[in-house]
Amino acid sequence: MTDWSEKYEMVVGLEVHVQLKTRSKMFCGCSADFGAPPNVNTCPVCLALPGALPVINAEAVRLALRAAIALDFTINLKSVFARKNYFYPDLPKGYQISQYDEPIAVRGTLRVKTPGETATHDIAITRLHMEEDAGKSVHDRYPRKTAIDLNRAGVPLIEIVSEPDIRSAAEAGAYLRTLKQILEYAGVSDVSMEEGSLRVDANVSARLHGATELGTKTEVKNVNSFSAVERSLQSEFERQCAMLDRGEVVRQETMIWDASRGTVRPARSKEESHDYRYFPDPDLPPLILDPDYVARLRHTLPEMAQQLRQRFSTEFGLNEAELDAVTAESSLAAYFEGVARAHGDAKAAAKWMMGELAAALNETGSGIRDFPVRAPQLAELLDMVRDGKLSHTAAKGVFATMRSSGKSAPVVAAEMAVTQVGDDSQIEQWIEEVFAELPAETSRFRAGEKKLTGVLVGAVMKKSKGRADPKKVNALLSKVTG
Ligand SMILES: [Zn+2]
Repeated sequence: MTDWSEKYEMVVGLEVHVQLKTRSKMFCGCSADFGAPPNVNTCPVCLALPGALPVINAEAVRLALRAAIALDFTINLKSVFARKNYFYPDLPKGYQISQYDEPIAVRGTLRVKTPGETATHDIAITRLHMEEDAGKSVHDRYPRKTAIDLNRAGVPLIEIVSEPDIRSAAEAGAYLRTLKQILEYAGVSDVSMEEGSLRVDANVSARLHGATELGTKTEVKNVNSFSAVERSLQSEFERQCAMLDRGEVVRQETMIWDASRGTVRPARSKEESHDYRYFPDPDLPPLILDPDYVARLRHTLPEMAQQLRQRFSTEFGLNEAELDAVTAESSLAAYFEGVARAHGDAKAAAKWMMGELAAALNETGSGIRDFPVRAPQLAELLDMVRDGKLSHTAAKGVFATMRSSGKSAPVVAAEMAVTQVGDDSQIEQWIEEVFAELPAETSRFRAGEKKLTGVLVGAVMKKSKGRADPKKVNALLSKVTG
């Protein structure tokens, strides 16, 4: 395969749709929940029945503003909802309410660090606007018929449009992961691609290195994971480079990512370039924000990942890898801090979270919010390890039982009879028994053959069923050889 990156440069801009975490829709009181039976969450407003009037959802505005503040946007104190006119079967009004020339926020930035690179790159974000989602056409429910589900019609979205500042597929991935993390920390969205609360469209073009003009772009739409975004961009970039190299002209068109083939292909229905005939929605007044309200929102923004990294680094002395792991999500960071404070040894807490806890979360596929072992309970387990009451191996077993039973570490350890024994007289008794069972090794050991220590410690550990504190066993054995 040709490495086009020597000759051509990739230029990418991303449009990201994010569903806001509101209970009701953008312009009516219907539930915005995911997964209800078709058309249950509908009313005259979202069905576009004649005479129904939209009302702006204040909570959606609050969340959109939080997102805008977290992404360092300039907030427009006046914004306008417009009608974006187009025909589509799942759009009963014949227009989508969106924002056009007066969006709620403009000019944001996102600082992105691409894996494997040391420098960060600031990506400019053109705008953030509010809009409502459309419904969904369902093609696989009835043979040769299309069904329409309007549960999503009117669900509140923000669209975040970047400048064409992204220069590689990996950087696009880093942008999306950073954006997702910020929106999750700000608490504005569930940012789940699986549930459709985050959707990505990418504009991609190729140009010769050093060229200042942008090449013709194509749009890669609705890719369903971040890694698929990266792969589809790379594939589309290579297709365009090959065309340019042959002297062909890239056409502006919409491409669909075919995950099974690992390539892009033109969208089946050739989309015309739309004239949406935007105009301000006569049913909705301009959205006027009180500057004091915006200022108050700015102050209620929680600590974001970057701030937490700083604080955890100075307060707990965590390294980069530990910081990456414990600040990946805000809920994970809160959990970590709970364990670290209750247990007192932040390094041990981070180590456990990166090892045992990460494995457990991976296995169940659920998030930390639903994890049965809460922070104080994990701290209690780590206390037992630190105090020599449990070996690390035994602690893993206790942790597994805590997950399934919901019982505390001391209770589980007692039930499993794995509590470590640090009591001198008990350990001395085991040592005496081992001496009696292994007379030859014992006499060589007494004569000064230190390398037999390992054998004897092993025998004591076996005899105690792993419960003897190995440090104590070593110490007591070395007394014998004095
Ligand atoms: Zn409704």
